[in-house]
Amino acid sequence: MTIESHKETLGFQTEIKQLLDLMIHSLYSNKEIFLRELISNASDANDKLRFLAISDDALYENQADLKVWIEVNKEARTISVRDNGIGMSREEVIDNIGTIAKSGTQQFFKSLTGDQTKDTQLIGQFGVGFYSSFIVADKVTLSTRRAGLGPEHGVKWESGGEGDYSVETFERLERGTEVILHLRPEEDEFVQDYRLRSIVKKYSDHITWPIVMPKITTDQEKNETTIEEEVVNSTKALWTRSKGEITEAEITEFYQHIAHDFEPPLLHIHNKVEGSNEYTTLFFIPARAPFDLWDRTNQRGVKLYVKRIFIMDDSEKLLPPYLRFIRGIVDSNDLPLNISREILQHNKQIETIRSGSVKKILSALEGLAKTEPEKYATFWREFGRVFKEGIINDFSNRERIAKLLRFSSSHDDNEIPAVSLEDYLSRMKEGQDKIYYISADNLAAAKHSPHLEIFRKKGIEVLLYHEQIDEWVASHLTEFQGKTLQSVTKGQLDLGEMTDEQEKQAVEQATTEFKSLVERLQKVLGDKVKAVRISHRLTSSPACLVSDEHGMDANLERLLKAAGQPITGSKRIFEINPQHSLVESLQAETDEQRFADWAFILYDQALLSEGGQLDDPSNFVNRLNQMFMQLIKPVSRLILPN
Ligand code: ADP
Repeated sequence: MTIESHKETLGFQTEIKQLLDLMIHSLYSNKEIFLRELISNASDANDKLRFLAISDDALYENQADLKVWIEVNKEARTISVRDNGIGMSREEVIDNIGTIAKSGTQQFFKSLTGDQTKDTQLIGQFGVGFYSSFIVADKVTLSTRRAGLGPEHGVKWESGGEGDYSVETFERLERGTEVILHLRPEEDEFVQDYRLRSIVKKYSDHITWPIVMPKITTDQEKNETTIEEEVVNSTKALWTRSKGEITEAEITEFYQHIAHDFEPPLLHIHNKVEGSNEYTTLFFIPARAPFDLWDRTNQRGVKLYVKRIFIMDDSEKLLPPYLRFIRGIVDSNDLPLNISREILQHNKQIETIRSGSVKKILSALEGLAKTEPEKYATFWREFGRVFKEGIINDFSNRERIAKLLRFSSSHDDNEIPAVSLEDYLSRMKEGQDKIYYISADNLAAAKHSPHLEIFRKKGIEVLLYHEQIDEWVASHLTEFQGKTLQSVTKGQLDLGEMTDEQEKQAVEQATTEFKSLVERLQKVLGDKVKAVRISHRLTSSPACLVSDEHGMDANLERLLKAAGQPITGSKRIFEINPQHSLVESLQAETDEQRFADWAFILYDQALLSEGGQLDDPSNFVNRLNQMFMQLIKPVSRLILPN
């Protein structure tokens, strides 16, 4: 086999250059995290080797005692972080250390604001990893050899963190990776042994591999110096300890390690299950949504362990997609160590763990909603949109999920949706037997829709659906505790007992009185509408559009069209408000052309006010201008000479 031993110099991906620059400047106040990141990588590398060695013992190369070593050289002003884990081949070095393959990178760069404080928080969420070395180092040397490859496959990578890096192949006897940081002149504090120990304690205590540092003792009498390896961390998997024993600080540190987050989590859920299928779970809800939350295929949040041994971190079987914001671990005592992805797919134990985990998470959320509503609001703001998918996908827990939903409502001005269905039920009017909602493109459109006028007048609450997902939720959430959910833009509005005799009579009277107007409108609008009728819903707007009882909601239709679905728009019912003066004067309009112009203007307005798009906007503008001209002509003549 030939190996490329030549030294080559390669350029960083543009994003990395930007990232490095940003990191060096904005993470400066938190620079000690570089050590946490390097230890984390070293620990992962040991995990990976141990996992692969389960099926191929030779990978240990007769050295199964895995550790992470930290050493300082005061004279050279270097720090070394070394592991005897899986290591990397030349290709892997180039792929892993020269490019950012992470999903979400683009979103990350898009969300940068240029404001230091904000960007610092963002970068914390992004998970900076290996590159954080350059916060304190002006040169980084990484040498590595992949387990199982011969000693001639050693690789040395080096960079000053500017625009490029070099790679060369060299002979390396030991398997694993060593990262040497050449400290910047101003970073002397990190050559202090005690400083490094305290950082390890602070951020990496829970790492299950021994993190060792040399301990130098001098025997004064004999004038002898001995160097021993001293384990700095406690090496016990955090989740195996009992709840009472674990401090808040340890929980936070562990979370930050597995989630690559700088902030503490919003909530943690620790659970041990005993019996025939023994397992432990430790789940976290982050305080902030990650960039790739929308990516349904990215499910790296929960790591699977078997008897404390790391198995994989991308099993989509552990939690359903609507809980993909959860971070944490599942550690099973009963699964076989050599479990493969294929087996996981149909494994009964995994099924049990999954449904047990979902129930635990739901009850933790229920508890949070009850005892810490502010935190629950944060949860909802960050993850509500994803969580709602549960209504569509998790039939067995639908009722519980429905209770956890939060909505915007005509009775609530909170910017974050805060109204639960139970809140709604408790505020229902006498005689009200339905839960009303309206769906629109955005909150303002929903809030100001003419369809809400009658509800406002009567003080009946209406839930405001304004996120894309809401439309799908609406089609699956049709009932809650025996009450039907009803769109206010669909069908004949029947407020049942909430309509009094007087109102009924008024509508009947208007129907007779405006019969000819309704017919004229029907004739003029022709194919555009399914029918024209007198409205019960309006108090201040002249007109609105209503879907058929069984027709598709207008907002859903818009969504489907936007998604490229071939939808032939179903015709809608045009409702007019008999109390509106525009409608009254329309009744009196004798000029057929003007009547038609008004009719189309009213129709288009109704469409616009619900957030819809006009088929022919310029036509609308022309008609409107025609009307304006008639109003202003006499005045303009006075002012303008010609
Ligand atoms: P992350 O750890 O979040 O993936 P990093 O930038 O820290 O991001 O590392 C990128 C990749 O480089 C890792 O995913 C891993 O594949 C590889 N890597 C880094 N450090 C080591 C190491 N000590 N041993 C083996 N591989 C490593």
